[in-house]
Amino acid sequence: MSDTDYLKSLLKAHPDFPKKGIVFLDIFPILRDPVAFETLITHFVYHLTSKTIPSLPTKKVDVVVGLDARGFLLGPIIAMRLGAAFVPVRKKGKLPGECVTAAYEKEYGIDSFEMQADAIKPGQSVIVVDDLIATGGSAKAAGELVAKLGGKVHEYLFIIELTFLKAASKLDAPLYSIVQSD
Ligand code: IMP
Repeated sequence: MSDTDYLKSLLKAHPDFPKKGIVFLDIFPILRDPVAFETLITHFVYHLTSKTIPSLPTKKVDVVVGLDARGFLLGPIIAMRLGAAFVPVRKKGKLPGECVTAAYEKEYGIDSFEMQADAIKPGQSVIVVDDLIATGGSAKAAGELVAKLGGKVHEYLFIIELTFLKAASKLDAPLYSIVQSD
């Protein structure tokens, strides 16, 4: 079985969570299994280091940005393997010090993300990571925060992509996902 099929087989679909009509895809069974978790991280690191991301010819990633909250479970491990910094994007009001802010649309209303203003230096190469991309609103806001600080996103990385929502067209850099769900 390929690593992609193996990881896909562990994802659990929860119908009607967090509310009726939504099928929530849960990644935590992967994290519960040390071999699967290792496979997941190795897959991402192999992708970032062995395959050419066209805009990143030196393959040097300076910063891995993880999105609140499940991006915090993946980003730091990927960053350490790459010898890169980890930077969190958090919901507004959670980070101390000077922050930059970007709004994004949720199902009902607007929410805001923040990043610490000294977290990324102009010209740094950045990868954005989260567990799942749906509409792409949160990933796009994270990209805006990186751009405000002068960084450049080279790729958006996810375990799962809900392809029917066509998030890739909203982003300023390529999207990579291990599992595509329609
Ligand atoms: P987007 O901003 O519409 O792309 O939504 C992506 C955000 O919603 C990410 O932070 C995901 O963690 C979360 N999310 C939405 N649906 C799911 C799901 O089915 N499983 C896990 N996370 C989800």
